[in-house]
Amino acid sequence: MKLFPIRGGIHPDYRKELASEKAIVSLPMPALLYIPLQQHIGAPAEVLVSEGQTVKKGQMIARGTGAVSAPQHASTSGRIKAVTQIPAPHPSGLAQTTIVIEPDGKDEWAELPEPIADPFTADAHTINERVAISGIVGMGGAAFPSAIKLNLGTQKKLDTLLLNGAECEPYLTCDDRVMREHADEVIDGARIMAHALGVPRVVIAIEDNKPQAIEAMTLAAKPFAQIEVVGVPVQYPMGSERHLVQAITGRETPAKKLTADIGVVVHNVATARAVHHAVRHGRPLLSRVVTVSGAAVRETNNIEAPIGARVSDLIAYCGGFVVEPASLVNGGPMMGQPLPGLDVPVIKGMSGILALTAAEINAQPASACIRCGTCVTICPCGLVPVEMAAFIRKDNFEVAARLGVMDCVSCGSCSWVCPSHIPLVHYFNYAKGMINAQERERRKNDQTRVLAEAHTQRVEAAAEAKRAALAAKKAQATAATATEEKASA
Ligand code: SF4
Ligand code: SF4
Repeated sequence: MKLFPIRGGIHPDYRKELASEKAIVSLPMPALLYIPLQQHIGAPAEVLVSEGQTVKKGQMIARGTGAVSAPQHASTSGRIKAVTQIPAPHPSGLAQTTIVIEPDGKDEWAELPEPIADPFTADAHTINERVAISGIVGMGGAAFPSAIKLNLGTQKKLDTLLLNGAECEPYLTCDDRVMREHADEVIDGARIMAHALGVPRVVIAIEDNKPQAIEAMTLAAKPFAQIEVVGVPVQYPMGSERHLVQAITGRETPAKKLTADIGVVVHNVATARAVHHAVRHGRPLLSRVVTVSGAAVRETNNIEAPIGARVSDLIAYCGGFVVEPASLVNGGPMMGQPLPGLDVPVIKGMSGILALTAAEINAQPASACIRCGTCVTICPCGLVPVEMAAFIRKDNFEVAARLGVMDCVSCGSCSWVCPSHIPLVHYFNYAKGMINAQERERRKNDQTRVLAEAHTQRVEAAAEAKRAALAAKKAQATAATATEEKASA
């Protein structure tokens, strides 16, 4: 297949060798599971259970609410110990509502939905409904509810499902292992998704530094002419949705548009596996593979962990730390977020837990910009990071927005290359948060203004109606008096 070059990009030290040869192992069931209501983009789920209640494995314990949401399920059987607030795996460390389950050790399944025996004769709605009630969200890290993306075939003209197996973030190897060890499940999930989307073509893109994954997936895809497995160059951030679409199709996603607007829907390989489980076996999303890596951890691993196990459970399984980590990261080192501590739970979008030493993070104090322009040369989105940062420093978000900060995919490449060690991507994440907050505020004010105007109109209409009724009454009374006077004359 002809590949198209992507702009910019970098070649960090990938350090995949730390965990890539570690086969997936299952985490022994922890003493407690912590299942947050918000593990996805959208509205948090709504609790369906109460303290003291017993639950079975796979039972829905919180249902999705609103148009964009996802339900949560019990990862094993046990008793609801509490519905409480605990810190989320987010840099803010803010508490969020979480269901705490005390496993009973029986791992007893709830009654599951019937498998869809032949998904290729089922309609798209049936597949999407199954994916939605199974709580499946994008497992590459975005955690967007997958059923909504699978429904795009009804709204857009699509031609390709692109399965993202690039895994371009350094250290992470969970997708590599899923493709090597569960290729048949991934391929089956991809075929089901393509059927739901109504697309004739599936491309599975894998970075060339995963030859065994390419081989396993190629073998599993062999019987299906619609599927093509493609090795793509090792170039960070090749795994960013927009860049992968460009590398495979040559099409560029316009600003403020989705890849679906140019005919391509992208899903992660682990998401495809979850779809296979939900459709073929009726099983909701109860676990995920997490890479535990970094030089500070005693033993690196790729661990299939139940959703709700704590980071500390996985670290303990890996033998703890050899040195105190200088940094704990949720995800990869480029786009991941700092972990606020070890007590936070594994959630559906958590692909990695990195315990990095000071030498690995190589933190250096920032100094003044030397106007070298390197950040401009490597930005894969064609932005001018140095200029955007200068305006953000002055809190001028309007100009930063005009310069395209909202198109920044937060890949961190500019920060990585900057010889002055300026944390550019932090500026952009901050600005995007501020611009989104301002936009929300503006929408709220617009809504309030519309409501206030409607209220004023209603009050004026009521007053007008009252005046008209009074006038009519008065006219009636005058007419009656005139009739009486006429009669008595
Ligand atoms: S973080 Fe944003 S500005 Fe920096 S290189 Fe990546 S896309 Fe460009
Ligand atoms: S890479 Fe750093 S020093 Fe060079 S222009 Fe960009 S911000 Fe300035």
